[in-house]
Amino acid sequence: MDVDNITYEPVRPEASVYDDVKKEKTSIDDTLVIFVCVEKGDTLEMADKAMLDTEEYMKKLARKRLVIYPFAHLSNNLADINESRKVIEYMFKKAPAGIEASKAPFGWNKKLILDIKAHPLAEQSRSYSPNGEEQKIYKKAKPVSANTSLVRKSSWAGLPEMDHRTIGERLDLYSFQEISPAMVYWHPNGHVLYRELIALMRHLELKYDYLETSTPVVANLALWQVSGHLDHYKDNMFMFENESGAHGMKPMNCPSTIMIYKSRKWSYRDLPFRTATFDKLYRRELSGVVSGLFRVQELTQDDGHIFITEEQLLSEMSKLLQMVKETYEVFGMKFTAKLSTMPDDHLGEEALWEKATAALKEALENNGITYGIKDKDGAFYGPKIDFDVLDSMGRSWQCATIQVDYQLPIKFSLEYTGEDGKAKTPVIIHRAILGSIERFAAVMVEHYQGKFPTWLAPVQARIVSISQPANEYAEKTFAELKKLGIRTELDISDKTLEHKIRDAITMKIPYIIVLGKKEMESGKLTVRSRSGKQQFGVPMNEFISKIDKEIKERSLTLSY
Ligand SMILES: [Zn+2]
Repeated sequence: MDVDNITYEPVRPEASVYDDVKKEKTSIDDTLVIFVCVEKGDTLEMADKAMLDTEEYMKKLARKRLVIYPFAHLSNNLADINESRKVIEYMFKKAPAGIEASKAPFGWNKKLILDIKAHPLAEQSRSYSPNGEEQKIYKKAKPVSANTSLVRKSSWAGLPEMDHRTIGERLDLYSFQEISPAMVYWHPNGHVLYRELIALMRHLELKYDYLETSTPVVANLALWQVSGHLDHYKDNMFMFENESGAHGMKPMNCPSTIMIYKSRKWSYRDLPFRTATFDKLYRRELSGVVSGLFRVQELTQDDGHIFITEEQLLSEMSKLLQMVKETYEVFGMKFTAKLSTMPDDHLGEEALWEKATAALKEALENNGITYGIKDKDGAFYGPKIDFDVLDSMGRSWQCATIQVDYQLPIKFSLEYTGEDGKAKTPVIIHRAILGSIERFAAVMVEHYQGKFPTWLAPVQARIVSISQPANEYAEKTFAELKKLGIRTELDISDKTLEHKIRDAITMKIPYIIVLGKKEMESGKLTVRSRSGKQQFGVPMNEFISKIDKEIKERSLTLSY
């Protein structure tokens, strides 16, 4: 993994054999990290091969630092612990000359924070087998018993309170199960987050003239041969054979969206053609890595592809940047932008690159967005802008990315008829604003620490009855709110009022509506907001109109 930063800290020994180290934080910038796990039958020759690959990879990425990170969670067929330690020590000794190598402590449960670079080569995984052959992707399914192999994975103990995995478990948002490694099981509460984030983007896409599409997850590998993904991305694709040949599951939406463009003829008058999709994507990652929503093998991008003429680049970028700004304003998050310019190994004429880069700069400046330059860090097919958002704890997360692409249209022979009647090649802008919905949901969980604004809250109001006689009034109120589409729950259980309120507070529900005899007689509500404020005698209509407005406007503050 090519990372901007890795920080790890041994928490407690978790194996019978472990390194003698202090419980201190180690933080290393700009380094390649290799997660290593030694399985039964692994040999030192295999370690040699892995280190040779590492050296080659480091050269390719021009990295001068290496962290060897023992990571037993990658396998359930681990070698003897002393053997594992020996192989990992050996790899550390074999670290390429002239680089700064470190080794994370062996045999410890460690706190780990990774800040990962976003480029196609940033994360790669390999496995080595004794006979040197490439390991078969598919192992035979093992017979399972319902109580062992199908159990929920909950190795999240010891994580910080503010971690989205801890909060997610407490608020019952999602879980991860061994039977679908690094893929999300969205529970009803968490799926509200997922849907609301998509609904927000759909709302903005309508405003900014996008048309939504959906394309198959599976396609013949020919598609990715043409796009070039097979050359660069093969290791990260899920593939399988069937009667009609080799197929893959899509790791990105671009090639299949292009198939829609190719299905008809285009004139310059039809462009820009702005498409958006929320299809699921599949990317193979290091197996068994448990980092919650931040590293998943099944993900959903708020993905957009815009087909434009070369002349439309500036106006389209301005429009797009406006949309990015509007999106982050919803969350009250500040952001910074980085413009990545032409790398040494680029495709296409330099004059074109210069023109495109100048257009991106102008669009950023027109929108009043301050930006930094990442010199020579663009993709080989065009310049790009990346956006980092700042969360409530001052941490930055890379989310939006906008990439100008001159190469895919050429590879797929895309055309439109120009004003002069001649065939021309369009330009594609790839863009994602939230990035991946899964990752953005995690950022939201940590940003709000589970105290979501009402529009995003899994449950927006809970009605709590004080005593049995008020139950009927509670049920009536419940039906009323539900009818208006407000996500409401009803608690008319026999628990004490304190207990009911405590339950609702634990779930961080924005509004608790407390109804007793007094409320029943007056036909009004007692509204207790998440901040602890309590207001008596609130007319039903007033509550409804305030909360409805708050939700529709995606307000960041509570009305009570
Ligand atoms: Zn794309």
